[in-house]
Amino acid sequence: MNKEEFFKRKIFDKESVPSLQKTYKSLSKEIQIWYKSSEYKNIQDLKNKLESKLKQFSKNEEIDLVITPEYIFSIYLWYTSSEKKCHYCSLSEVDLDALRVMPDYVNKRFPQRGKVLEIDRKVSTLSYLNIDNLVLSCYWCNNAKTDTFTENEFLAIGKIINKIWSKRLNKIIE
Ligand SMILES: [Zn+2]
Repeated sequence: MNKEEFFKRKIFDKESVPSLQKTYKSLSKEIQIWYKSSEYKNIQDLKNKLESKLKQFSKNEEIDLVITPEYIFSIYLWYTSSEKKCHYCSLSEVDLDALRVMPDYVNKRFPQRGKVLEIDRKVSTLSYLNIDNLVLSCYWCNNAKTDTFTENEFLAIGKIINKIWSKRLNKIIE
């Protein structure tokens, strides 16, 4: 077992530290160090955030999303490997921070929304269980797209939003 496997088994599969130490006696000390690391805490925090988001989706849509450890782990892998920019207008999380400190920034929903990118379903009738259907979106695109516009329709709108962001941020957003 290496550090990454430990994180997966402890955080996602919820195996206990003592039982893992028992199974991997020679790694007992390392396990303790991994468990106390800031990396461990960051992954645990992100996992909790993603899980509560999914629970919220499940509640809002009145569907029973069965959040298994495998599913939340695959969402975690998807999220951590995704480029942190809006699928529709290309606004990045760094741009979000830059926008926020501008004098004309108005967002009454901040920090609940607009602080980080949100999870959007390209096809809103498909479940969150379908990871290929998920993209990261800024609050404004997600909010405007609703379940009315298709992915392609909103990509066209996103191009215009991108021009507005570029103007505000005084740069070209790739
Ligand atoms: Zn956007």
